[in-house]
Amino acid sequence: MARECIDLGFYISFPGTITYPKNDAVRDVVRSIPVDHLLVETDCPYLSPQGFRGKRNEPARVRLTAEKVAEVKGLTIEDVARVTTLNAHRLFGIGEIDQATKIAYAIRHSLYLNITNRCTNACTFCAKFKDFTVKGHQLHLEHEPDFDAVVRAIGDLGDYEEVVFCGYGEPLIRLDLVKRLAEWLHSQGVKVRINTDGQANLVHGRNIVPELAGLVDSISVSLNAPDAETYQQICRSSFGPNGYQAVKEFIAEAARLIPCVTATAVTLPGIDIDRCRKIAEELGVNFRAREYNEVG
Ligand code: SF4
Repeated sequence: MARECIDLGFYISFPGTITYPKNDAVRDVVRSIPVDHLLVETDCPYLSPQGFRGKRNEPARVRLTAEKVAEVKGLTIEDVARVTTLNAHRLFGIGEIDQATKIAYAIRHSLYLNITNRCTNACTFCAKFKDFTVKGHQLHLEHEPDFDAVVRAIGDLGDYEEVVFCGYGEPLIRLDLVKRLAEWLHSQGVKVRINTDGQANLVHGRNIVPELAGLVDSISVSLNAPDAETYQQICRSSFGPNGYQAVKEFIAEAARLIPCVTATAVTLPGIDIDRCRKIAEELGVNFRAREYNEVG
C-alpha cells in the first residue's frame, strides 16, 4: 500500500511508533520505501518514542524517530536529516535547503565524488532523468571539475571509510583524472572505490583495467541484466549490443587485478536476479542486488 501511495506521488510520514520494539511490521515499511519519499513527525502530544512512552510527547523527540529511520535504512542521522529536510521543503515549501552542486558529498561513512554527468548508458531507471539529487545532495554539474577543484571540494578527509567515484555519470570517462585522484587519495591513506557501468574499455579503445591496479581497492560494476538483449533494453548503452559483452569482460579482468570486485543488478520488475547472481559467480566476483527505487 505504501508503494502504491508513493507511485501516486505521496510522501509517507512516520511517528515515534517506529521505535516500539514490537512494531517490526511498520519498520518493514520504512525499509521498503525510498527515503526520498519519507518524512518523520512527532504526533505530539501523543505517541512518544520508546523511552518516553506514557509521557507527553515533544517535538524535540522527533530526533529519536529519525535515529530509528537511520538505523533501519543503514544511513547516518545526518543523511536522514538532510533528506527529510529536503522532502519537507518540497512538500510544504518550508525550511532551508542546500541547493549548491556537490563535487564531493557524504553518504553514510563514505565520501562520494561527482566528476562528470556524462554517461555511456541512458538507463531507463536512472533517477537523474527526473531529479539530479542523491540523498539530498544536488549533483547537476555546470562544469566538470579539474583535479584542484576536486581536492578543494574533498577538504578534510576526516574519518571516511572510503572515497567512491560515483555521481550521476560514468567516472571512468575521465580516466586520467580518476587515476590522478586515486593516487593522491592512496597517498593520504584512504581506500578508493569506483562505481562504474563497466564500459570504459570501449570508451578508451583499450583494456584500461591494468591502469587501475594498485590505485583502486574495490570496483562495483553494474551488470544489471542476465543477457545482452535485456541489458540493451534497460541500460540503452551508446555502444549498442556490444555494451553487455564489454561489461562482462571488464568484470572478469577486474576480478584478476582489483582486490574486491562486486557485480550489481537493480531489482527492476522482470529482471532475473538469480541469473545475474549466477553470472557474477561464474565471473568470480561478489554480487549485490540494489533496490531500483533507492538511489545512493
Ligand atoms: S549508468 Fe548510472 S549514471 Fe549512467 S544512466 Fe545508468 S544509472 Fe544513470
